Amino acid sequence: MDYQTHEHDVLVIGAGGAGLRAAIEASAAGVSVGLVCKSLLGKAHTVMAEGGIAAALANVDDRDNWKVHFADTMRGGQYVNNWRMAELHAKEAPDRVRELEAWGAVFDRTKDGRILQRNFGGHRYPRLAHVGDRTGLELIRTLQDHGIHQGIDVHMECTIIRLLKDGDRVVGAFGYERERGRFKLFKASAVILATGGIGRAYKITSNSWEYTGDGHTLAYDAGAELVDMEFVQFHPTGMIWPPSVQGILVTEAVRGEGGVLKNKEGRRFMFDEIPDNYRAQTADNEEEGWRYTQGDKAARRPPELLTRDHVSRCIVREIKAGRGSPHGGVFLDISWIKARVPNGADHIKKKLPSMYHQFKQLADIDITQEPMEVGPTTHYIMGGVRVDADTQMSTVSGLFAAGECAAGINGANRLGGNSLSDIIVFGKRAGEYAAKYAKAQTSTAIDSRQADEAARRALEPFERSTSGEGPYQVQYALQEMMQDLVGIVRNESEMQRALDGLAPLRERANRVGVGGHREYNPGWHAALDLHNLLTVSEAITRSALERRESRGGHFRDDYPTKDARFGTINFVVRKGRDGQMEVFSVTIPEMPETLKQVIKDME
Ligand SMILES: Cc1cc2nc3c(=O)[nH]c(=O)nc-3n(C[C@H](O)[C@H](O)[C@H](O)COP(=O)(O)OP(=O)(O)OC[C@H]3O[C@@H](n4cnc5c(N)ncnc54)[C@H](O)[C@@H]3O)c2cc1C
Repeated sequence: MDYQTHEHDVLVIGAGGAGLRAAIEASAAGVSVGLVCKSLLGKAHTVMAEGGIAAALANVDDRDNWKVHFADTMRGGQYVNNWRMAELHAKEAPDRVRELEAWGAVFDRTKDGRILQRNFGGHRYPRLAHVGDRTGLELIRTLQDHGIHQGIDVHMECTIIRLLKDGDRVVGAFGYERERGRFKLFKASAVILATGGIGRAYKITSNSWEYTGDGHTLAYDAGAELVDMEFVQFHPTGMIWPPSVQGILVTEAVRGEGGVLKNKEGRRFMFDEIPDNYRAQTADNEEEGWRYTQGDKAARRPPELLTRDHVSRCIVREIKAGRGSPHGGVFLDISWIKARVPNGADHIKKKLPSMYHQFKQLADIDITQEPMEVGPTTHYIMGGVRVDADTQMSTVSGLFAAGECAAGINGANRLGGNSLSDIIVFGKRAGEYAAKYAKAQTSTAIDSRQADEAARRALEPFERSTSGEGPYQVQYALQEMMQDLVGIVRNESEMQRALDGLAPLRERANRVGVGGHREYNPGWHAALDLHNLLTVSEAITRSALERRESRGGHFRDDYPTKDARFGTINFVVRKGRDGQMEVFSVTIPEMPETLKQVIKDME
């Protein structure tokens, strides 16, 4: 078949923060770059990021530095992180943030004109550079404005459905454009995946329609390894009412600015259970917690700012014990700070403008006057493509990954703010090393039969037309199953049921039919997403079954404690020779003494 064909030295799949930063870096290295995204440029998930970018700039608290950030990230990830990535991230994030500023990002300011930083869960000092609660928008705007002048070729509204290989090497990608439904073939010497996460595998999620695990699955199908897939982050505070907005994020910045969590009895239940490894850093009374949020360096953080995995479980505990709010969540109250802050209502609107509008418009609630109702929502996946820490190359030659679709830096749990810094630190690295790799390649041959096969499979749902089941029924059934059986609290028998349930869902997915034509046909796109959603769901479930302990985002009520035997390994999945998914463990390399000492010093 004939396809519209494009040729680039480096092809970047995904135009969020990671993809844009990678494209800028590769282009600056002098290679030709193509950038593909599923939606319009500027609509990537990064744009939704609210609270801020974590970087040890030490503008607000001069005790902060890369060592504290590194130790916080490792403690948050419960020490199964890729320590080299955590080290690079902590060291390089400040430069990447200053670079954004130099490229035109307008951050909120301290009184003396430096980038303002706010408190966030698990970060010892105020560390999140931010723009109100619209930080992602500023990040994307800045990278786009900068990137647009670099001569990057952008292919918008184009969804990649397969990576193309020459022997063991990735040499291109194949996809369809949403507008006309035509297929496109991309030849490239190196390919960078920057496709984001998998939230749409669950029923309640803060993630947009684009988060269907495409990059994870493209990599897996091309023979790459995925790591840490059992670690899914359920953010403690999503909207729960009205039902049409269930899952939409309520940023952690609300708690960073002094918001408190209460049950229906009006009690701040977060004080009831403080994990041992955070006890020394956590306030033991409300007054101290408040002083911390207002910048008192002698105070310790309130328990609402403990890590997300812990806060989510405390909320679930309150709901299960019958102490929840009317619509099945708990209360999050920022309005109370009016008693402490002059012009409190205006202060809240200034610090949290999006939250104010979100609740006013979607739930008819004025957050300056009354509490919000919130509950956990699927937010982020710590797991993803297994990459080399320095170069971001996957286990397949020529294939790189960065951002949420790559894994390692976060271990068992991500700290808020660490994703925006991750995507610019490792986006840059992926771009740099992919460009280097591309320059070293001589010839690229693509056997177009791979593309023909992908095109044929992609068109199958039309052949079944309306005689097949609709793709949305299968998608809803999968989301429902993952939410119920592989969610916040897991156990062997439920996860086994989920695994057994995946095979029939896959059969149903193979029989779905779609009507109409190829132009802007969301039903067709949903049908093609199913393979990705099923693949990541299987990877999550299989890895979660193997990790017979509780750690970070992965909590099992049949193994409710941490087990040291699992503290030295990561679980990896890959496609076996028989086409079935294999899971195996790998030992985490020994950390150098210097980094061990950093962690010890910060205890
Ligand atoms: C509501 C919300 C608030 C958040 N707030 C914060 C915060 O304050 N701080 C923080 O650190 N993190 C935050 N996060 C997390 C953070 O925003 C994301 O993890 C991060 O932006 C991911 O960036 P990325 O570049 O990896 O992916 P994305 O920004 O999601 O970009 C993915 C790109 O890949 C493209 N794509 C996907 N599949 C395909 C395909 N098959 N073919 C072609 N293109 C494809 C998409 O179109 C998109 O362009 C938040 C997340 C949410 C949902």
